[in-house]
Amino acid sequence: MVKPASRINKIELSQIRKMFEVTNPDAINLGIGEPDFDVPQNIKDAMIESINNNETHYTPNKGIIELREEISKKLKKDNGINADPENVIVTVGASEALFMAAQAFVEKGDEVILPDPSFLLYESVINIANGTIVPVDCKMENEFKLKAEDVAEKITKNTKAIFLNSPSNPTGAVMEKEDIKAIADLSMDHDFLIISDEIYEKIIYGKNHYSAGKYSDNVVTINGFSKTYAMTGLRIGYLTANDEHTEELFKIHQNNIACANTTAQKGALEALTGPQDAANKMIKEFERRRNLIVPRLNDMGYETVNAEGAFYVFPKIEDEDFVMKAADAGVITVTGAAFGENGKGHIRMSYANSYENIEKAMNILEEVW
Ligand code: PMP
Repeated sequence: MVKPASRINKIELSQIRKMFEVTNPDAINLGIGEPDFDVPQNIKDAMIESINNNETHYTPNKGIIELREEISKKLKKDNGINADPENVIVTVGASEALFMAAQAFVEKGDEVILPDPSFLLYESVINIANGTIVPVDCKMENEFKLKAEDVAEKITKNTKAIFLNSPSNPTGAVMEKEDIKAIADLSMDHDFLIISDEIYEKIIYGKNHYSAGKYSDNVVTINGFSKTYAMTGLRIGYLTANDEHTEELFKIHQNNIACANTTAQKGALEALTGPQDAANKMIKEFERRRNLIVPRLNDMGYETVNAEGAFYVFPKIEDEDFVMKAADAGVITVTGAAFGENGKGHIRMSYANSYENIEKAMNILEEVW
């Protein structure tokens, strides 16, 4: 085999995907990280129409202007971020935006503060960029919410960036406004970048979402359509940053993928401008499931935080064989250890599965143990 580049030495293929491949195909899957809903009809129609209109050519590298204008309005209205459409880049999912941020700003010698536990991709994009990961604890005693005082302790002269993700994958934690604001202040005082992944912004129960980008100039705000509009396979997201940061980010995007998929951009435009009923219904249903799964797990003796967002719970389950035993019994889950040191002794369960299946899964787990 030809020797691969050393920068990918540390990269491992996703443990989560592997798990799905090896286990019983009839098992109830509480491992998945995507909505179990279909793309709303109005969005499908917009995409079909655009194809029939032969809108299948390249778009401007940053994305179609109509979509960037709508994103800019959305950022102002929902997030308090003043982003000119020129500072919005439409990306191939939030995933590309995360990669761009790491590639444009992180290099050897840079420390990147990473909440522990957190979404797997963050670690990978930092490693591919040759950065050094500095973990910061999201403690169960704080309901897994990242605290600004814990972040402050990790800052050194080499701190280049921090990843924020509220609501969080894998814990469902929603950060408090005061912590977001305090970390935003730290980013200005110590001149580091906040890479704020807000993809679960709308999947939130009885809490408000706050964006670091409202309080600091040193923020790359990342969002997308995969979760709110169940558009995972369409691979469409976006980022915004200030003028100078956007220009650097754009270098990576333009030289990597040219532009996001044209059809998906048309779908995203409809997602933002069309009726929000389907999205609102889906979010309500997620809340109903959260209200089912959390008490069921607590009743079984697995301490579980009543997560305020996303579609994950992160119960404390110390049995190291739990994932395998549960899979054999017919329930797929993911080991918390996949998300960082602090994930050890926890299991991530997604409730992006039907109410009935979650009920069945809880019955199985109750019977087996
Ligand atoms: N960020 C988080 C926290 C996620 O959970 C996911 C999807 N699992 C992504 C980003 C990737 O989203 P996209 O489909 O937009 O690339």
